[in-house]
Amino acid sequence: MIYLLLCIVLSYGAEIDVNTFSNYIEVSQEHVHIEWLLDLDQQHINATSQQIFRVNSNKLDKIDLDIYQLDIIAVYISSSGNILQHNIIKQGDQSLLQGDVLQIKLDRVYLRGEYIKLNIRYNLDSKGARALGFLRKEQTYSKQVPYLFSQCEDNNCRSMIPLQDTPSVKIYFTASVLVKDARINVFMTGNKLQSMKFKLLNNYDNLQALTLYQFELDIKIPAYLIGIIAGEVVEKSTGNQTYVIAEPHFIDDYAQELSDLPIYMNEMQKYIGPYIWGDYKIVILPASFPFGGMEHPLLTFASPTIIVGDKSGVGTAIHEIAHSWVGNTVTGRNWANFWINEGFCVFLERKILSRLNGLDSVKLDAINGNSSAYTSMQTFGLDNSFSSMHPNTKNRNPDEATSRVPYEKGYQLLTYLETLIKEDPFQQFLRDYIQHFKFQSIDEDQLYQFLLNWVRTNKGDDAQKIITDIQTIWKDWVYKPGLSPIQIDVQTPLFTNANNLAKAWIDGRGQVPEQADEFIQYKPNQKSVFLQYLIDNSGLVEKTVLATMDQKYVLTFYKDQKIAYKWYRLVLLVEYREALEGVHDFVSKVGVSSYLKVLYDLLGYHYNEEAYLWFDENKTFYHPVVVEAIEKILQKYPKKNIFE
Ligand SMILES: [Zn+2]
Repeated sequence: MIYLLLCIVLSYGAEIDVNTFSNYIEVSQEHVHIEWLLDLDQQHINATSQQIFRVNSNKLDKIDLDIYQLDIIAVYISSSGNILQHNIIKQGDQSLLQGDVLQIKLDRVYLRGEYIKLNIRYNLDSKGARALGFLRKEQTYSKQVPYLFSQCEDNNCRSMIPLQDTPSVKIYFTASVLVKDARINVFMTGNKLQSMKFKLLNNYDNLQALTLYQFELDIKIPAYLIGIIAGEVVEKSTGNQTYVIAEPHFIDDYAQELSDLPIYMNEMQKYIGPYIWGDYKIVILPASFPFGGMEHPLLTFASPTIIVGDKSGVGTAIHEIAHSWVGNTVTGRNWANFWINEGFCVFLERKILSRLNGLDSVKLDAINGNSSAYTSMQTFGLDNSFSSMHPNTKNRNPDEATSRVPYEKGYQLLTYLETLIKEDPFQQFLRDYIQHFKFQSIDEDQLYQFLLNWVRTNKGDDAQKIITDIQTIWKDWVYKPGLSPIQIDVQTPLFTNANNLAKAWIDGRGQVPEQADEFIQYKPNQKSVFLQYLIDNSGLVEKTVLATMDQKYVLTFYKDQKIAYKWYRLVLLVEYREALEGVHDFVSKVGVSSYLKVLYDLLGYHYNEEAYLWFDENKTFYHPVVVEAIEKILQKYPKKNIFE
């Protein structure tokens, strides 16, 4: 058996996914359909999934699927209704990290090329389903109707659907979602169907009283791209097949802030080629959404922190649009190749931003990005594989490896390649790359071979020199932890000016520097550089500097959350207690995981009592994956007994 598996893996020839328990090489999932009856008041979902598999091995008698804390009721053959025996194989210490195996014993031996169609009935609730954020109605703006949203990436889809939870496998996805409360509107990955297309799999006593939504996507996607929101939400067109979705109170403001969506979409297509997914819809979620954005096809999610009021936060929207090509059309085949999604995506995002805002502004973004990547590397350890573009996620929840590292080192690699290949040919390379690998999941070696071949074919006399340059750096760039082997040029006066101003504040020791007003004119990314300088040199910053600075710039309770976040990091590092109420306000209003992880790490150390108090206050506001992450961070700083 082991020999057979080895043969299959070898003939397969590509990297396997170490973060799935499924036997996806022997049998591959082709189609996943779900039928969910939502009860958002009870935070419960009555679920059935119908799935089609194709057999790849010579003989197959079982299917192993990924599950996380799912209550499986029954598995049966769709056509006959014959019940199949199923077992849940617990994975020991992996159980709470990555879940368990749902092993389905088939009714006979199936041969290569045969198809199998199964139904799985199961229950979902707010306790087990870590992909799902159930908000009580009090947590929404109108406080009338509860709200549900999902976050499957990295491998959390297994907590809402039993499936092959790996980006190596792409599936057709369809859904029927039934709701009891007619005020609840539902959106999922895919097109919302105007009339009923899929026959219901179950009988419902009160069908007349239920509202049914159906969704279909005709392009295959990996499981991590499945997404849902349900709640009192509306959509508004922003022109040219682009839409914004949000709670009714916010929809006009959000649509106004995102009114340039058609422009971004247009610029992106001019650079990389046609958009193939249909409509482009972006949901602005309630504040407890843990990420900046998530690129579900036809249903991008974005945090409300991108809405600043002056369109300055919409870089995230451009990033998510770029995923339509890189990530969603061409996909990294496992979490070690996550950079194939994110590095390319940041490259496209900054390419468009440089056309809209100029190259100097993009250089600042690259500096800021690299600085947060470096902060993550220091936390992981500079020799840790998580500090490389190709993290070793075996026996780990790949979420743990998530940081800016693959984004920025990937971006830097592509920028370096662009300097070797030259700008216009590199654009052509990217277009050819999308065409060549579209609808596939790939690893770094497939990309590497394609790149070398492309250069050989397209770069004439320069080809050999370029190939040698690429060969010299490639493996180090991809696999070696720490900073990229070659530093790209990010020099800009915007950076120097911001640093000089920050230094002048430190040297002033509480006096307002002469050029202090420059800050008011800075764009957010330059403000961010300014604050980063102070963070990096926080040992030299006196409390009185922060007091004067706050008076001058009013940074406590600052509206742009990206800036507020950096200010609060500084406040905590310097222990400037006067601004602590601002930190409290921030951690009670913003649910973004990357911000909260850093702030609670600092709080745990500098303000232990407040850390525990505020975490307890906000536990029901944060998404379950964030609660888990903060609990882990606070373990480093045991609660101090205030009576000691
Ligand atoms: Zn991304």
